[in-house]
Amino acid sequence: MKLLVTGGAGYVGSHTVRALLEAGHDVTVLDNLSTGHRWALQDCELMSVDLRDALHLNQQLKGRRFDGVLHFAAKSLVGESKSNPILYYQNNVTGTANLVDAMLKAGIPRLVFSSTAAIFGNPKRDLIDEKHPKAPINVYGQTKLTVENMLESVTKSAGFSATCLRYFNAAGANNAANLGEWHDPETHLIPNALRAAAGTGQPLTLFGDDYPTPDGTCVRDYVHVDDLASAHVAAIGKMRKRGVFNTHNLGNGNGYSVKEVIAACEAAVGKEIPYKVGPRREGDPATLVASSAKARKRLNWEPKHDGIAEIAESAWRWECYRRDKLVLR
Ligand code: UDP
Repeated sequence: MKLLVTGGAGYVGSHTVRALLEAGHDVTVLDNLSTGHRWALQDCELMSVDLRDALHLNQQLKGRRFDGVLHFAAKSLVGESKSNPILYYQNNVTGTANLVDAMLKAGIPRLVFSSTAAIFGNPKRDLIDEKHPKAPINVYGQTKLTVENMLESVTKSAGFSATCLRYFNAAGANNAANLGEWHDPETHLIPNALRAAAGTGQPLTLFGDDYPTPDGTCVRDYVHVDDLASAHVAAIGKMRKRGVFNTHNLGNGNGYSVKEVIAACEAAVGKEIPYKVGPRREGDPATLVASSAKARKRLNWEPKHDGIAEIAESAWRWECYRRDKLVLR
């Protein structure tokens, strides 16, 4: 298929572009490189477009034939979404409305949307399936849920199909391709723990150890970024019919506490990671673990990297590469 990938220079986007190319698809990346990286661009065409610029977007898509779009471009920091909600609504909601409008005008019939476990808010059940109530507790999650609702409405009125893939905690790296995670500022646990170990980042703060979990720290479902990538390849390949709205939760179904993740990072690095316990971070639910039964069945998707040890090891190998080969350039 001929595919357009927005945010293809970002973390999950770049791994997915690589997987799509490996699967034989023809890929064009659309990215304004505001948070994406030039080094993460794979060998394919780049359209430099900001999705908030509807005119430019329409001009770029006019006369182009794409079979589908995979839409990663978004702002994704929970804390920033609280301090600057308009930035999040403009990028995530207006940007996606512009994209879908341009797709309809250009006759592009299918979209895979990068959604998130943050749409669920505080879980009511141990395993979160697709039917779990949606009640986001931060602005980032609200913008992603707004987009899901918008996409569902569009599929009802136009011959357009949308699949929302809700990631739990994307983690790990593709070491063979020298791809991995690099956010600025970095807010995620695994890179922060690894950088604290290497002495290249801030000392690690553990955000709260008084949660109602076995060891008092938050429990999350860490899913390898290459497994997320393979889910996208499967999802776009499945979208044959018009006017269909679908959702899939993507995780391993295993929860690891912050302390367990720190221990896995210590094992990967081979040394103790010093940390201090700080207050809870606002907007963090105690536990988020996916039921991915639907994705396993409907997409025939099977995560290949299901242990936190393997995820931490690949993240550490990436961190060493990033530090040695990219930071100093
Ligand atoms: N966390 C932490 N210290 C950090 C970063 C994260 O204790 O420097 C905790 C955070 O409170 C959450 C878990 O680690 O419970 C995973 O956070 P992350 O930001 O990696 O992903 P999120 O769950 O927010 O998507």
